[in-house]
Amino acid sequence: QAKGLGRNTYSYFNEEMNRDVSRRLELEQEIRGALQRKEFEVVYQVQVNVSSGQITGAEALLRWFNPKLGQVSPVEFIPIAEQTGLIVGIGEFVLTQALSVLANWQQQHECALKMSVNLSPRQFRDTQLVDNIHQALIQAGVAANCLELEITEGVLMSGHSYIKKALSALSGLGIHLSMDDFGTGYSSLNYLRHYPFDVLKIDRSFVQGITTESTDRELVNAAIAMAHSLNLTVVAEGVETPAQLQLLKSLNCDFAQGYLLGKPCRSTRLLALELMP
Ligand code: C2E
Ligand code: MG
Ligand code: MG
Ligand code: MG
Repeated sequence: QAKGLGRNTYSYFNEEMNRDVSRRLELEQEIRGALQRKEFEVVYQVQVNVSSGQITGAEALLRWFNPKLGQVSPVEFIPIAEQTGLIVGIGEFVLTQALSVLANWQQQHECALKMSVNLSPRQFRDTQLVDNIHQALIQAGVAANCLELEITEGVLMSGHSYIKKALSALSGLGIHLSMDDFGTGYSSLNYLRHYPFDVLKIDRSFVQGITTESTDRELVNAAIAMAHSLNLTVVAEGVETPAQLQLLKSLNCDFAQGYLLGKPCRSTRLLALELMP
């Protein structure tokens, strides 16, 4: 298809494609042993109650540092972990870490702080998923309703019946389900009708524009109103400025997360934070 663009353009595309392929191969090679070599770390980003300013929980986010590749973004390595199936073991690691940190955090403050953990589509193909999560909660001694699982529309798009069964079972255990990156996928509204979600997480791309773009503001306003009418709570992600937070407050958004409120940090730092603003 590069025909007609000239020979130089063609070889340029070729080189770029080769670079992509070898980068991918290198990532794949290195990620295979990464768990055993203890190259992963879980960091935590606080979630805040918009009206009181109080910290109510955190989202667990995975980090990978490899001696050869340096720091690799989850945006780059999560898809590879999914395609190779390695996400199953990695996901178990994240959950175990996050629940153990949550147990410490709750003990320290004697309150029902919450922890959000991201789940990938591939993890639903693991028939042990629900049992493993249940066992991990028991092991950590954490109440099911303090765990929130974040799922993107990608998980639901396949429409597999086992996904619906797994989500119903998780919900039945009392675990909260959150629709992540809301607004970026396809038929989100339909999914909300058919799956037992408790939380709607509005994507950063909408939050970014709320103070400058009236369309974004109207969309966020409508999303919050709709979520509330379905008895869902709303988290706004990627809040970076006081003006965005103020506006979200006026739109009755329940919770906020973003660099303004706290960047992802190590567990030791999380445990040392004051909860009150
Ligand atoms: P996500 O779940 O939507 O997580 C939010 C992302 O936005 C995180 O990126 C976070 O660091 C970033 N972020 C938070 N606040 C701000 C802000 O104010 N401004 C900006 N510009 N960014 C902000 P991160 O950690 O790079 O993760 C990217 C994605 O990788 C996550 O998006 C999630 O989909 C995936 N991911 C991360 N950890 C895991 C994991 O343990 N399991 C799975 N399956 N996916 C994960
Ligand atoms: Mg998330
Ligand atoms: Mg998100
Ligand atoms: Mg997002």
